[in-house]
Amino acid sequence: MKDELYPSRLELDKSSYEKNLSFLRDYVGHDVVFSSVIKGNAYGHGIRDFVPMAEDCGVRHFSVFSSDEARQACRARTCDSHVMIMGMISNGALGWAIENDVSFFVFELDRLKAAINEAKRIQKPARIHLHLETGMNRLGLEEDEFEDTVRIIKENREYLELDGICTHYAGAESVGNYVRIQEQIENFKEYSSWFKEQGIDPKYRHSACSASALNYPETIMDMVRIGIAQYGFWPNRETYMNFVKKHPDVNAKHKDPLERVLAWKSEIMSTKKVPAGEFVGYGNTYLTSRDQQIASVPIGYAHGFGRNLTNVGIVLVNGERAPVAGLVNMNLLTIDITDIPDVEKGDEVVIIGKQGDQEMTVASFSEMRNFMNYEVLVQIPSGLPREIIE
Ligand SMILES: *Cc1c(COP(=O)(O)O)cnc(C)c1O
Repeated sequence: MKDELYPSRLELDKSSYEKNLSFLRDYVGHDVVFSSVIKGNAYGHGIRDFVPMAEDCGVRHFSVFSSDEARQACRARTCDSHVMIMGMISNGALGWAIENDVSFFVFELDRLKAAINEAKRIQKPARIHLHLETGMNRLGLEEDEFEDTVRIIKENREYLELDGICTHYAGAESVGNYVRIQEQIENFKEYSSWFKEQGIDPKYRHSACSASALNYPETIMDMVRIGIAQYGFWPNRETYMNFVKKHPDVNAKHKDPLERVLAWKSEIMSTKKVPAGEFVGYGNTYLTSRDQQIASVPIGYAHGFGRNLTNVGIVLVNGERAPVAGLVNMNLLTIDITDIPDVEKGDEVVIIGKQGDQEMTVASFSEMRNFMNYEVLVQIPSGLPREIIE
């Protein structure tokens, strides 16, 4: 249902999501657990609407960064899906996680001990993933902490459920990091075997994000943590080229197997004629060069449409590309529709997505802004309504 109260809205295309999931599941293997990464408000797609849609498509495992996102995911879910925290959870929030069956990464002995204390207090085991440092040098248990880790786990077996042993790679989307990633893969294999020899054999070994799953299939293991690819984006162009080269069947179809799930749409608010030689909007950044037709669109930098798209950005109207004319305002922008016939108030405006034969990709939007897909997506305002398109 279109919510008339909002100046713009987001659409989530469920059939595109289903296609992405089936492509990714066929690729990683159907016996591998698919964890849908929904940090950053589901990469801008909106946790509240995205989670039930993903559950409808069969997803039962979600990964978030922090405990507040975990709570949002728990509220959004409509069945018994599992929620896993990959990053920040304060010791004070551990009790909440344990009580709610939320699992979390343990990357320090301090966190391990605190989790055990909370588990004892609540009389319920904590579900943990041992996050090992393998060479990213960001988070993770260090090699010299492994023996203590094993000892502490063995002493507190009844308070811990070992859901996983895991790591994360430092830039698997770029061949420039090849050697570093290979070393991490080797380290992870060696370390996780060592834990197994010590009698510590968690349920899932997992290490792959989108880029490592696509570029280094050996990182897939028992579970994958897929973010960007499920939303229909390749982590970067290099990963796409590399994948197509390795998979002639995909190449032969001449079609990207991933489809964008998200579209961002608004409408023409008003139109007016402006004679030649007049400035449009605040100040003097845009001077009409002829008699022009100018339209207003109720989107501005308050909604994430950057001021740096002033006189540079493009939106779609009636299947044509309409350039931003003048400064992007807080809630409003003006576009030049002189060469687009029959534009009327109420006509659809596409900021991201398809209209007719044209498409505004997040990449083209982001190239203009010089950002990565990830960064543009998460800046899409959480307050706008999301509509699921069946
Ligand atoms: C973000 C993240 C992922 C998913 O990354 P994508 O590139 O979006 O697939 C996986 N694992 C961890 C630890 C992450 O932080």
